[in-house]
Amino acid sequence: GDESSGQQLHVAIFPWLAFGHLLPCLELAERLASRGQRVSFVSTPRILARLRPVAPAAASLLDFVALPFPRVDGLPEGVEATSDVPAGMAELHREALDRLAPAFSAFLDAADGSGSKVDWVLLDSFHASIADVAHEHKVPCILNMPYSAESSVDYGVPDPKDLDNPLTPAVVRRFVQTFEKCKLIAYRSSFEIEPESMPLLAKIFGKPVIPVGVLPPPAAADTARDGDASLSWLDGQPSKSVVFVGFGSEYPMTLRQLHEIAAGLELAGTRFLWALKRPGGVAPDEDLLPPGFEERTRGRGSVVTGWAPQTSILAHAAVGAFMMHSGWGSTIEGLQYGQPMVMMPVLGDHLSTSRAMHERKIGVRVHKEKGDEAFLADNIARAIRAVMVDEESKGVYAANARKMQEIVEDEKSHHRYIDDFIQRLRTH
Ligand code: UDP
Repeated sequence: GDESSGQQLHVAIFPWLAFGHLLPCLELAERLASRGQRVSFVSTPRILARLRPVAPAAASLLDFVALPFPRVDGLPEGVEATSDVPAGMAELHREALDRLAPAFSAFLDAADGSGSKVDWVLLDSFHASIADVAHEHKVPCILNMPYSAESSVDYGVPDPKDLDNPLTPAVVRRFVQTFEKCKLIAYRSSFEIEPESMPLLAKIFGKPVIPVGVLPPPAAADTARDGDASLSWLDGQPSKSVVFVGFGSEYPMTLRQLHEIAAGLELAGTRFLWALKRPGGVAPDEDLLPPGFEERTRGRGSVVTGWAPQTSILAHAAVGAFMMHSGWGSTIEGLQYGQPMVMMPVLGDHLSTSRAMHERKIGVRVHKEKGDEAFLADNIARAIRAVMVDEESKGVYAANARKMQEIVEDEKSHHRYIDDFIQRLRTH
């Protein structure tokens, strides 16, 4: 339907300060604004400065609201996003989020005062104090879930009494407090992409669960910079010959795991592009790669550091597989470009997502030896070869990944999910 004809909503979107949450929320914000709704995207100055530009069709209805980042004793100056938070300081960083509550309250008042009252606040499960503020202002909340539906089918609603819960008690408490205050749950998924698990969610949560679609980022959303080292290296490689290796923004990488990956890439023998992040606790001057690694793989491998233009890399014709952690954002981007996956999950929802992708033969989950913390080189190499080299298996993975790509490319279905979401917000 024509969504611009109904009553215009004002939705404030306040994502958790992590790129795995910020980026899909920006897609959602842009899509809501493109469909005629007013959106305020709330975050902190350094984070907003790192986001991509917004499509012209959305720009007039999408405002960015920068709340000054609060000072927290012990948290280094300049740290705003989780990817910059030093190891062991996650709870301090969540405290900073709590201290944004008064500024958020002032923003809601100002919106009220200027005649464009906020109708809904969409926030993440860490945002208990922000949900309280919305509640005081009588603005209803939507809980944002940028995870696979599969993971919630596995884990259900976090329960503070469940001692096997992999989450820390502080995180569970935040989830429960936020969850109680939310009227709706918005899921970054669709019935097409997760046909088995999506329909189970409403029952699991006991609240209305609305899929908002998978929100694929627009092509080259990371504004493929001219002269980017990884992209120009890819330009010189044959079609579908390179495995891209990247583990998102907050993988708990260890030096030992890093060395197993290096050895696995050597053993596999394929071309690779590795977006390397320095593991927590490793001194800035310490060598990360095993001695001689770069010489031995020269010509067929490239290692880059810093923030990689991941979507442009995955879209590149030279890339033929994605070795990753099974974060939901990276999974969707991999599917968007039809990349079969080599999966090395470590954290909660990544385990569920990778299991589902493995079972559906969209990729291979690297086998983990019992009692070993790290994925070992032999198993990593075997998984890479299964999706890139072995003739009988690689066609199967490629064909399944391509089927998923067709689903993600269906723009009509994305519009439908957004319009249904808007309709639910109007009538709820
Ligand atoms: N990302 C990127 N460059 C990097 C690391 C991450 O562009 O060097 C992007 C990636 O494309 C994805 C997001 O950051 O959109 C990571 O989200 P995901 O859910 O995969 O993982 P998380 O970082 O939350 O573990």
